[in-house]
Amino acid sequence: MLPSDRRQQILLLLDERGSVTITSLSNVFQVSEMTIRRDLDELAAEGLLQKVRGGAMSLKAETAVSDRCVICQKRPSYRTQVILQLAPNRQYFACCPHCGLMCLLQNERQVESMLVTGFIYGRTLAGHTAHYLTHPDISICCAPTILAFEQEEDVARFQVGFGGQICTLNGALAFLREAMSLKKMKDGAGWRV
Ligand SMILES: [Zn+2]
Ligand SMILES: [Zn+2]
Repeated sequence: MLPSDRRQQILLLLDERGSVTITSLSNVFQVSEMTIRRDLDELAAEGLLQKVRGGAMSLKAETAVSDRCVICQKRPSYRTQVILQLAPNRQYFACCPHCGLMCLLQNERQVESMLVTGFIYGRTLAGHTAHYLTHPDISICCAPTILAFEQEEDVARFQVGFGGQICTLNGALAFLREAMSLKKMKDGAGWRV
């Protein structure tokens, strides 16, 4: 393969994945890591990617991740979206608190902060300040449903209409951990709402 073709393909891979490592590229293209380093230097010099330690990042990385939920691949809705901040400049988007908290459980150490969307007013707020409602009778986005609310009185009013349990962030995490282990025990039978 010509170096120019390989560089073209590296850019395509970057667009698709947001970031790549030198090791994985050297495996994909069956060339030395030295060769990949030169490719990345060249592409960075042309302003086509951003080099990072051990790899490269797409310059479009943020838009590439923002249009799909990191857990279920659904398009995040502006009513329920969750943003997880990992390292500086690395964000995950989730469609709803269910997926946002799943992501938090899976990456607890790397997540620096989490922003949720308050369900009624659609305003963004820090995840640990929100009031959560787990498993209401109405299913919204992913099951079991978890919703985040900005105001205590709103979550209380919603609970009167739709049931569910009001809890803090830690309570919602515990609920989800439990729900997921029950789901596993039913060996693959989907969660029943
Ligand atoms: Zn999701
Ligand atoms: Zn969802």
